[in-house]
Amino acid sequence: MKLFDVYPVNDITITKAQGSHVWDDEGTQYLDLYGGHAVISIGHTHPHYVQRLTDQLNKVGFYSNSIHIPLQQQLAEKLGKVSGKEDYQLFLVNSGAEANENALKLASFYNGRKKIIAFKKAFHGRTSLAVAATDNPKIVAPVNETDNVVFLPWEDLAALEDAFNKYEVSSVIIEGIQGVGGINVASPAFLQKIRSLCDQHNAVFIADSVQCGYGRSGKFFSHDHAGVNADIYTMAKGMGNGFPIGGIIIAPKFKPAYGMLGTTFGGNHLACAAALAVLEVIEKDNLIANAENVGNYLMEELRKFPEVKEVRGKGLMIGIELPEELSHVRRELLFTYKIFTGEAKPNVIRLLPSLALTKDHADQFLTAFKQALKPVHA
Ligand code: PMP
Repeated sequence: MKLFDVYPVNDITITKAQGSHVWDDEGTQYLDLYGGHAVISIGHTHPHYVQRLTDQLNKVGFYSNSIHIPLQQQLAEKLGKVSGKEDYQLFLVNSGAEANENALKLASFYNGRKKIIAFKKAFHGRTSLAVAATDNPKIVAPVNETDNVVFLPWEDLAALEDAFNKYEVSSVIIEGIQGVGGINVASPAFLQKIRSLCDQHNAVFIADSVQCGYGRSGKFFSHDHAGVNADIYTMAKGMGNGFPIGGIIIAPKFKPAYGMLGTTFGGNHLACAAALAVLEVIEKDNLIANAENVGNYLMEELRKFPEVKEVRGKGLMIGIELPEELSHVRRELLFTYKIFTGEAKPNVIRLLPSLALTKDHADQFLTAFKQALKPVHA
């Protein structure tokens, strides 16, 4: 059997990973500033994480949600404490798309409405509603097409008000910092306006925190920078540091009913153990403050480069916009300087490293970046 070839892969094979580094099958070391697309939150193969998962696997790896799983309650309590959302409720799933799918569904159960407001350049995942709320027609199959989603321009407060007057809005879904769309930070005024319109109209504010959440921005949720509380937060990626787990954090006003949401694998023993290990390390090693400090340092230094058009982001979610003609820089960084980065558009480099990245790693990147910016000679 062949693989169904949907990913544009380079031909590097990673055989070992530790902290902020990975190694290929020839033993070459790379600095990982991509973190498997914002997934590696506490660093690769962190000893506490490996130990907790191994211990759990030796006890019980999986049963089902038909039995009591105390680890789920432990995770909810820990998550409440670290995120500051102690009075919210937790529902566990397996991915970011699934988290958004359930959040949009729960909003609709709550207010009985259908209309979803999403934004230009948004990415919310590839399942049915999540992809319908994603602003990329190329990945929306005919079966996913719906009139229930309205896309509004980013940061347009008047368009927001118009939409609320025109439609019976069920929910607004927004990334606090758009990731795939190019690292666009939502302003406090924009998020506050959404909050007040949702309050006025009994609509649900869904904060897609799959990429920008879990401490990456220097606060647990990037929406916290605006002092705004969402009704539902969706999470995945960094939550399991590579073990597939997602979740939605749900405000107290939503009342659960048996069977309204569900998933076979969500909240299984291993996933909970992974997520608990991640939160323990985030707390013990003060990784959210580290993301803020190292991120601020990196962004300040990057803004000094005359070649850089713009640096956007918060904490360790950074977009470096280059002029079009410098789109070779990412390749140079990978193949010459052995540094993994991500891209948003060919000329926007995305940095999504582990939250444990050090200032020395940042300096290594800055030195390589300076070299990589130099014109390539044929
Ligand atoms: N929301 C956002 C903001 C994302 O960046 C992503 C993944 N890139 C998703 C949702 C979907 O997550 P997953 O791939 O785990 O389904």
